Amino acid sequence: MIVRAHVSRDSRKIATETLQLDLAVGSSESDVAQLRDHVRKGARNHPGIYIMRGVHGEVLYVGKSTQIRTRLLSYFRLPWPEHRQARMLRETARIEWQETPSEFAALLREVRLIRTHLPRYNVRSARPLDRWWVITIGDGPAPRLRIQRASTAARSRSCSAVVGPFVNRRPLVDALRVLNDALGLRDCPERVPMIMRDAGDLFGDTLHPALTRTPGCHRYETRRCLGPCVGGCSEFEYRTQLTRGRAVLEGRDNSPQQQIAKDMATASASLSYERAGWLRDRLTALQQLEDQLARVRESLSRPSFVYAVHGVDGHDRLYLVRNGRVADDAPSGDNMAMRIMNDRASTPIPIALAAQADQLDELLMIDQWFRTRPAELGRTAATVTLALATLRQEYPTE
Ligand code: SF4
Repeated sequence: MIVRAHVSRDSRKIATETLQLDLAVGSSESDVAQLRDHVRKGARNHPGIYIMRGVHGEVLYVGKSTQIRTRLLSYFRLPWPEHRQARMLRETARIEWQETPSEFAALLREVRLIRTHLPRYNVRSARPLDRWWVITIGDGPAPRLRIQRASTAARSRSCSAVVGPFVNRRPLVDALRVLNDALGLRDCPERVPMIMRDAGDLFGDTLHPALTRTPGCHRYETRRCLGPCVGGCSEFEYRTQLTRGRAVLEGRDNSPQQQIAKDMATASASLSYERAGWLRDRLTALQQLEDQLARVRESLSRPSFVYAVHGVDGHDRLYLVRNGRVADDAPSGDNMAMRIMNDRASTPIPIALAAQADQLDELLMIDQWFRTRPAELGRTAATVTLALATLRQEYPTE
């Protein structure tokens, strides 16, 4: 639906001196044309981010570009009403833009603004996060291990940790089924009510009604689930198994694989070849998951490093990346900030094996940045001095 905003022309205000355009725009052609004229007058071709705001100041969209002016003007050439972003422009009452010293700085700012505002048009668009999958560890009395789109997990307020990202969903489905079965974890929908065995104590001599009900699925009867839906376990027992599940995902425990391998050997020895084959498939699923997790851990556990980025007009900047995220940044001329960063860079930190959901977007952005631009790794170093040296080598005259 297109919201038509009728705003008086008197309310229009342009503040080009701060590199911000503050212009109330209705949905008529002339209003859009006027907005375009002001973009033409104010915006430069420079790396940066831009924000489209609605009539109430709400953030509709956040974008980044290495050429802000060209990118913004391209919106005005989109066919309306067919094109989604042309329709967004008709809802836009204000456009703001901020120049950044580099494309990397723009990407980082874009990711953080999207995380803060969850703009309607960003959420709907095909963002990089939509292409990735993660395993989330839930919250609540009987948390689940779930496969979710990275974009969904990043917006979720109900998961305690995230393992990933992964490119393919299919192998994850098989592996998670095996892992849930091995540990007795639930895999039913969130809406299934849980009742732990301890809850029965609260009812004294009277049995809690839920403890007499039928389990929600066959997994409890086939011993593949501890049965938290029918008081089949205490909260402590369930959480112990969940902690093991997290340890498997973090590469600290491979007892489920060992148990399956042992059962497979026993089945083979007793000539139960069908069962042995079934167990082999389960073991393969877990091993494939382990291979994928090893790749993820490699990028998550890159030790802390300093990344020197050459900026437009000599505005070079240093970024301290820790556990795959930017923990600090400073302009290359700020000696005090660089000294503080250097101290932080030399302080050891434990390797993170699982990320928080709200860190995922930044983690993926940085991972993708270095994957698609391997030469940039040459500008990273253990200390500020060494990172700066790589930059001075490349740009000696600046
Ligand atoms: S047995 Fe109960 S808790 Fe376990 S998966 Fe089935 S419905 Fe969920």
